[in-house]
Amino acid sequence: MASEPGSFRGYRCCRCGTEYPPEPLTYTCPEDGANLDVLLDYAAVARQASPQDIAASPEGSIWRYLPLLPVGDPGLAGSALRSVGWTPLLKPPGLGESLGLARLYLKDDGRNPTASFKDRASAVVVARAREIGAEVVITASTGNAGAALAGMAAAAKLPAVILAPRSAPQAKIAQLLIFGARVFLVEGTYDEAFDLSLQAAQAFGWYCRNTGYNPFTAEGKKTASFEICEQLTGVETAAGTAAKPAAWSAPEAVFVSVGDGNIISGLHKGFRDLHALGWIERLPRLYGVQSAGSAAVANAFLAGAQEIQPVRAQTLADSISVDLPRDGERALRAARETGGAYLIVEDAEILQAMATLGRQAAVFAEPAGAAAFAGLAAAVRQGMLEPEERVVVVVTGSGLKDVARALQAVASAPVIPPTLEALRQAMEASA
Ligand SMILES: *Cc1c(COP(=O)(O)O)cnc(C)c1O
Ligand SMILES: [Zn+2]
Repeated sequence: MASEPGSFRGYRCCRCGTEYPPEPLTYTCPEDGANLDVLLDYAAVARQASPQDIAASPEGSIWRYLPLLPVGDPGLAGSALRSVGWTPLLKPPGLGESLGLARLYLKDDGRNPTASFKDRASAVVVARAREIGAEVVITASTGNAGAALAGMAAAAKLPAVILAPRSAPQAKIAQLLIFGARVFLVEGTYDEAFDLSLQAAQAFGWYCRNTGYNPFTAEGKKTASFEICEQLTGVETAAGTAAKPAAWSAPEAVFVSVGDGNIISGLHKGFRDLHALGWIERLPRLYGVQSAGSAAVANAFLAGAQEIQPVRAQTLADSISVDLPRDGERALRAARETGGAYLIVEDAEILQAMATLGRQAAVFAEPAGAAAFAGLAAAVRQGMLEPEERVVVVVTGSGLKDVARALQAVASAPVIPPTLEALRQAMEASA
């Protein structure tokens, strides 16, 4: 049996609750195939670290939270894998006020090495792959998970195979190829690519990163919750106080877009870890935002159902276009157990949110990255938030990922001859 890092205690099935030791399981529950939560030994974590220790860490990445992760130190100093996370928590002047919120923050996760939130999961999965001696990693992806795995695998010199739908945006396909992965564009949906990747992993003995199916994806994603609490505490206690607080403070509400449901599940896990350690007093309400054309989890939430019915996904937000959410049960639980909710937004609202974030916050988000902000606007209209509450919107991916959609969100620029007169006329025409 490989020696396990300090605090990794095993797994618990999210459906039947059965607990398993760290070995020999790799993916889902042998009883019912449901996704597994990673269990940590919190006493062991507390022996290794405190909020003050972490606040003093020079590590400007997810690796500052190593004692709370189920992997050991991956090494690879100086590589892109060590620069994942610790993205800015912005408080853009005027943005919250325009919605009647005094304390609105944006967590800008487009500023990761491969420009999406998915780097968090892929970095931890690659660290795990090295620990278990995997020779090849594979994932199915709508684009970002693949780009992130390809990038993190390149950083660790680990061969990667990516299956993406042929319809993925060009920038994401370019990233896969530039990072040197073996890329196969599947004539079919993300869901079909997902099933194929499971078969390939089994047939060829590859380590599979697939979202939700691999328990370490949520463990990587939970680091955003740690950052949100640590950074929020820093912002709110800043002014002159030298002493680092012995506990952190969680926001009242967090908004995030949902496709497979692994990000919201990972965020939930992160807040639960901090709560179990006594480092935060309570969990924030978690709000999942789905596109009207891809709303399987939101539909189940609003119907009060346990079972999630697949849909035929149709939305311009490609990163959250999912027929059958692969982490839907935990995504439902995240909102239900925290007193949050699900919101459904139209594609037109997503495009509008992209323009608003760009103009009012200087944040360029891809459609799925802006969807959470569109959901916040809907929640405000529905009276779900108090004006003084601290609200964090997670912007999950950069707008450079899908420039064609960005151009749909704004009016096009006039083309003019290079004369002052033409510029003057054009300015008057577009005023
Ligand atoms: C993957 C992704 C999401 C949704 O995450 P899920 O875990 O599938 O719910 C949202 N935004 C972006 C940019 C993504 O890449
Ligand atoms: Zn089970």
